[in-house]
Amino acid sequence: MAPFASHPSGAPDAEPPAPLASHRSGAPAAEPLRAPGGDAVDSELARRWWSRRFLDLLESFGIGSRLQRGREYAAAGQVLELDVEPGIVLAKVQGTMFTPYKVRIRPAVFSEHQWRRAEKAIASRALMLAKLLAGEMPSDIEEVLAGAKLALLPVSYEELRADCSCPDEANPCKHTAAAYYVLAEHLDGDPFALFTLRGRTQQELLQSLRARRMKAAGGLSVGERAVQQRDAERKTQVPLTQLIDSFWRAGPQLAQLQVSPLASEFPDALLRRLGPLPAAEDGGNLSEPLAPIYAHLAAAAERRALSG
Ligand SMILES: [Zn+2]
Repeated sequence: MAPFASHPSGAPDAEPPAPLASHRSGAPAAEPLRAPGGDAVDSELARRWWSRRFLDLLESFGIGSRLQRGREYAAAGQVLELDVEPGIVLAKVQGTMFTPYKVRIRPAVFSEHQWRRAEKAIASRALMLAKLLAGEMPSDIEEVLAGAKLALLPVSYEELRADCSCPDEANPCKHTAAAYYVLAEHLDGDPFALFTLRGRTQQELLQSLRARRMKAAGGLSVGERAVQQRDAERKTQVPLTQLIDSFWRAGPQLAQLQVSPLASEFPDALLRRLGPLPAAEDGGNLSEPLAPIYAHLAAAAERRALSG
């Protein structure tokens, strides 16, 4: 692994055999130095589907055994710092040397063109857009982005382009592996960091999505449209004092109202229009169990209306 920062010359500092290390003056100890400032990761990390999936993907890349070496490191709090910036994760991991090792992970970022595709795909789904704007991670986000030929999570280990300043040839070395675990824990609390890894901060993404939504709504926000509509209505309204005699009388418009008790051909049309409703605890589509209920209620209402 190519070091990217200089570190004290001389002694090999990655996992030296314990007996040798103890005899060499100034040589690193076999055990990593304690890192009181480090954040020990929770033993039950990756509680959320996206962070679990991140770790599962890493394991699926055939680095499972090397990944495990970092787990204890992470659990012991050896990762002193972890910063997630657009397209780059920087971590400092306390190893056997006095100076912590520097880990750098540089996932492939989306190009401008790819981001436009991603945003277009997201913005075309009202529910997904609403969820993201509310700070939630939609469970079908990967599916939707896959439809735009994009992968939110890494598709290969090489794509993560990780390196560490330690001399260990293995990739991931245990410092990098520890950084992955702490990154997974970070993702638990901040799902938008997944987008940051692909090059957009939460603020940038949401700003862009809001702009798309406003454009689709004719350049006005929902609030602005409501104000505009209210002002237009006010102009045509007759003051209440002039309506006292006729206020409770039904106007000719009542006759124009058409109410059909017949069930629609597609009673679950509204559900279909909303798209998948990933509200179920297991992330399943709530529309599926609701659709037959809508159909049943529509048929029952029709029977009741026609029998009366
Ligand atoms: Zn390392």
